[in-house]
Amino acid sequence: MTNLLITGKTQLLGVIGYPVEHSLSPLMHNAALAELGLDFIYLPFPIAPQNLQVAIAGLAAIKVVGFSVTIPHKQAIMPLLSEISPVAQAIGAVNTVTWKNGQWVGTNTDIEGFIAPLQTRYQQNWSQKVAVILGNGGAARAVVAGCHQLGFAEIHVVGRNSQKLEEFRHSWENSPIGDKLQVQTWDDLATLLPHANLLVNTTPVGMYPHVNDSPVQLADMEKISPGAIAYDLIYTPSPTQFLQQAEQQGAITIDGLEMLVQQGVAALKIWLQLETIPVDVMGEALRSHLGL
Ligand code: NAP
Repeated sequence: MTNLLITGKTQLLGVIGYPVEHSLSPLMHNAALAELGLDFIYLPFPIAPQNLQVAIAGLAAIKVVGFSVTIPHKQAIMPLLSEISPVAQAIGAVNTVTWKNGQWVGTNTDIEGFIAPLQTRYQQNWSQKVAVILGNGGAARAVVAGCHQLGFAEIHVVGRNSQKLEEFRHSWENSPIGDKLQVQTWDDLATLLPHANLLVNTTPVGMYPHVNDSPVQLADMEKISPGAIAYDLIYTPSPTQFLQQAEQQGAITIDGLEMLVQQGVAALKIWLQLETIPVDVMGEALRSHLGL
């Protein structure tokens, strides 16, 4: 980061979470703000769940321009906002909040973050393609919505808990996404993999320090087609065991760092009303911090 100069006019951005110390967002956002030479700073705000409502009012009082939202507030903040974008409503979670016309407005930039590397690097027609998504938690919701936005013909979600899987499927029933979505158990993975054009890991399996774990057994990964894309939402380690297995089978790989950076880029575009954000500077700040 270049010289950080706080002035009387410095405008505030930040991230709310609990805990928030582990967040990489201040690092990458402040790197971008410094590169842009803007009189803004992005701060971590540790906010306990019981203080959320009063904290949001406080952030408005001190004229915070916008803030990111992380665990455990992504759903809890929704009733406290005046407006929620259709994408955030579809996902059922908000990760970006902006002060607009005297009120807090929420959206979710995880979809944009997820699809950005697919759109920029692989300009394909996805309409005949099959996506297989491992896991059915919060991140899987953004990935399902992103795959729908790209136009995938089939979206298969693989999970381990049949009740949660059924709830997941049910939650999309009144959306056009519901027509393309099928939920399946891990026993079905071996038959799904040869048809997968995109395989996404949204489970935490393989995340540091469990770097030798993979959500997919090697014998199953051998069924993936060469040329398929394997995408892991995990960003440490890089590459994960999952991505290494996929690469050995000739698959193209994408790690979670790109999504992390791109969801931040999308948030900065909203807050700063800018079209061009120094994405490389943000990625480099993270890579050097993580020793990648
Ligand atoms: P989450 O809501 O807790 O969901 C995790 C999902 O993984 C659940 O469906 C869970 O199954 C499944 N799962 C957990 N352990 C498993 C195991 N041992 N075997 C099979 N399935 C397992 O978490 P999340 O918020 O979606 O985050 C998931 C991952 O994505 C994390 O590693 C997170 O760091 C990463 N992420 C990355 C980005 C990025 O920008 N790169 C953004 C968001 C999330 P059950 O439902 O049965 O418990």
